[in-house]
Amino acid sequence: MLNLSKELENAKTIGISGHIRPDGDCIGSTMALYLYLKKNKPDANIRIFLEKPAEIFSCIKDIECVEDARECNDEFDFFFCLDCSKDRLGDAEHLFDSAKKTVNIDHHRTNAGCGDFNYINADASSTSELVFELLNTEKLDKDIAEALYIGIIHDTGVFQYSNTSPHTLNIASELISYGFNFPRLIEETFYQKTYLQTQILGRALLESIMVMDGKVAVSVIDLKMMDFYGVTPQDLEGIVNQLRNIKGVDVAIFLYQLRTLEYKVSLRSNENVDVSKVCAYFGGGGHMRAAGCTLMGTSHDIVNNLTREIEKQYKNS
Ligand code: AMP
Ligand code: MN
Ligand code: MN
Repeated sequence: MLNLSKELENAKTIGISGHIRPDGDCIGSTMALYLYLKKNKPDANIRIFLEKPAEIFSCIKDIECVEDARECNDEFDFFFCLDCSKDRLGDAEHLFDSAKKTVNIDHHRTNAGCGDFNYINADASSTSELVFELLNTEKLDKDIAEALYIGIIHDTGVFQYSNTSPHTLNIASELISYGFNFPRLIEETFYQKTYLQTQILGRALLESIMVMDGKVAVSVIDLKMMDFYGVTPQDLEGIVNQLRNIKGVDVAIFLYQLRTLEYKVSLRSNENVDVSKVCAYFGGGGHMRAAGCTLMGTSHDIVNNLTREIEKQYKNS
């Protein structure tokens, strides 16, 4: 396993980043690593680059230290790419490319590893779980534990999804021993929705359609609708999971429009279908039960193309 403290011994500048449109695991894992290195390598300059985190994550210590990578051209001694491969770093990709040494920590089965050092494990619930394994547990504190816990609950749906292992729960058990208010964290970062988020969720469910004999649920939110409700992509988090909850549904497809003829696709599956394969086929990736990609075309064509790939898996099984 990667020995972090040994590898980082001579590093004076360390950068950390994660994927575009950062989710709870991306923010939790990068912030935990940031807080840990700041605390335990006080002589090094540690920086973190992400797209603006959603308001719900403002409870994480030092979240205001997150920087915009477009405003930085430094060459780092070490650069960390977390919860993705470098092609999804967005504005931070140039910092990864110019760094002297790079580290890639991820749990996506579609990531082969893009760093000089790679710690990739598709069996891990989350990147936060992998970061926990790399850190010296004697050097954690309550703030670091809280960030890791947020990452884990977001990627496991609060320990509900099949990626939750006994190991995940052991880590969570160690983390809550730091004494933070975990019921409140779960409520405020995972379940709570603003009124507008609840309205757009309702609209998406109301307008959903069932295809492939009720095995696939589909919903699409276009820019006009987002504008009408005054919501951003961050407000659409969780809609796809609600679609998967429909009885009889194997796969949930949720699309939201990015611009004319371009949609962000989220897939979730129960059993039977490996959605990471479907998304990898279209240039995206993810996990067996949760994956995503970005596709061009009308929403109608995109849904047709996706269902054709899903259909293939039924035929092959
Ligand atoms: P999402 O539907 O965006 O919430 O993504 C579901 C899972 O798939 C998450 O673990 C994402 O990090 C991953 N994912 C989404 N889009 C991509 C992509 N284009 N390439 C690789 N992984 C992705
Ligand atoms: Mn993620
Ligand atoms: Mn993740």
